[in-house]
Amino acid sequence: MHSYELFFDHVFVPDENLVGGPEGEGKGFYFTMAGFAGGRIQTAARAIGVMQAAFERAVSYAMERKVFGKHIGEYQLTLVKLARMATLLTVSRQFTYAVGRLMDEGAGQMEASMVKLFTCRTAEWVTREALQIHGGMGYAEECAVSRYFVDARVLSIFEGAEETLALKVIARSLIDAV
Ligand SMILES: Cc1cc2nc3c(=O)[nH]c(=O)nc-3n(C[C@H](O)[C@H](O)[C@H](O)COP(=O)(O)OP(=O)(O)OC[C@H]3O[C@@H](n4cnc5c(N)ncnc54)[C@H](O)[C@@H]3O)c2cc1C
Repeated sequence: MHSYELFFDHVFVPDENLVGGPEGEGKGFYFTMAGFAGGRIQTAARAIGVMQAAFERAVSYAMERKVFGKHIGEYQLTLVKLARMATLLTVSRQFTYAVGRLMDEGAGQMEASMVKLFTCRTAEWVTREALQIHGGMGYAEECAVSRYFVDARVLSIFEGAEETLALKVIARSLIDAV
């Protein structure tokens, strides 16, 4: 990512453009927060997309690359890695669907944070394993898994950093519910 400074000079926003109308004054933060639950579940879905892509690459590379006369995928350590990756991917996907259903019913605000927290951290692990299966090639820029690993890393930062989700959304909701 590259970052740039932005300046807004002589910008005038008329009253009628205030988000939320006249009652919206001073409530921008709350409007933004209300939109975040949607952003969190879509980030969970993106984590699953990245994991799925990384898993598929890992399987095909394991069946393609030969070391010491055998495909990497024929070694037990690789098979165990693939089994764990597939299990975590399945759990993440089903958890995301379950939270999506809750949100369709108007609930699931806290669960949207939980599923983001879980799937984004899981994506880091799954993409790491996919990269590891590729050995040195996994670190090469022309190799898709190197990109998946970097892409997975940012998911725990935007749409609510994991510390903020854990501390201010999940833990607080759980304690308030007691
Ligand atoms: C690729 C990318 C795309 C982005 N897209 C958007 C976008 O479209 N729209 C948008 O509005 N923003 C966007 N962001 C910004 C993103 O939402 C913020 O980077 C994110 O919310 C974290 O804020 P920060 O970077 O200011 O970190 P900081 O708030 O400076 O936090 C730094 C670290 O301290 C931790 N921390 C903060 N508070 C506490 C605490 N109380 N206790 C313990 N630890 C704490 C954080 O979790 C984090 O690990 C994007 C960021 C990236 C990297």
